[in-house]
Amino acid sequence: MTLHRRKESIVEYGRQLIASGLTTGTGGNLSILDPDQARILITPSGVAYDAMSPADVVVMDMDGGIIEGRRKPSSEWNFHVALYRKRPDIHAVVHTHSVYATTLACLHWEIPAVHYLVGFAGRKVPLAPYATYGTEELARNVAESIGPANAVLLANHGLVAVGPDLPRAFNTAEEIEFVARLYYLARAAGEPQLLSDDEMDRVIEKFKNYGPNTGTLDD
Ligand SMILES: [Zn+2]
Repeated sequence: MTLHRRKESIVEYGRQLIASGLTTGTGGNLSILDPDQARILITPSGVAYDAMSPADVVVMDMDGGIIEGRRKPSSEWNFHVALYRKRPDIHAVVHTHSVYATTLACLHWEIPAVHYLVGFAGRKVPLAPYATYGTEELARNVAESIGPANAVLLANHGLVAVGPDLPRAFNTAEEIEFVARLYYLARAAGEPQLLSDDEMDRVIEKFKNYGPNTGTLDD
């Protein structure tokens, strides 16, 4: 994929963040890793998604240095970099302030296996301790708390979803917002019945084979 095409996909998924209701205004941010060149493409700070063009996307090195871009990178760039450095399987990061995931993050709750779709993240969605946005401390907390999961709640802040590419990281952000909403509603009504670790491991295995012509998601 060319650098320009990668920048276009950042712009495209930025618009989808708004269209899907996962964020409003200039909230949230996205990045992808270009592993061959050891560089990261990230959304700029303070630019509305509908006004964003590929030229606004910022290219950074793995230490957070700016390689290319007329804009400032997202103020959250350090946790994006920290995640890529921590886990070689992560090639895309999606950060949202979606309402239900953020509500649970404000309660300092993790999301347990309340529904099989939690399997998009893993056996559960862990919670990273609070630190001021944009700080090294928050980057450390996020990278340490995510463990092997594909999503992590950020206390009093929001959600981070990761994946091997942008479509899958984005899809995980959407599914985790859905299960966050279910968990909130279920807890409001009573005590949710959780799935076992064994069952979640079976689901996670099935998800590995999920694709347009393979496996099924009961969808
Ligand atoms: Zn944020």
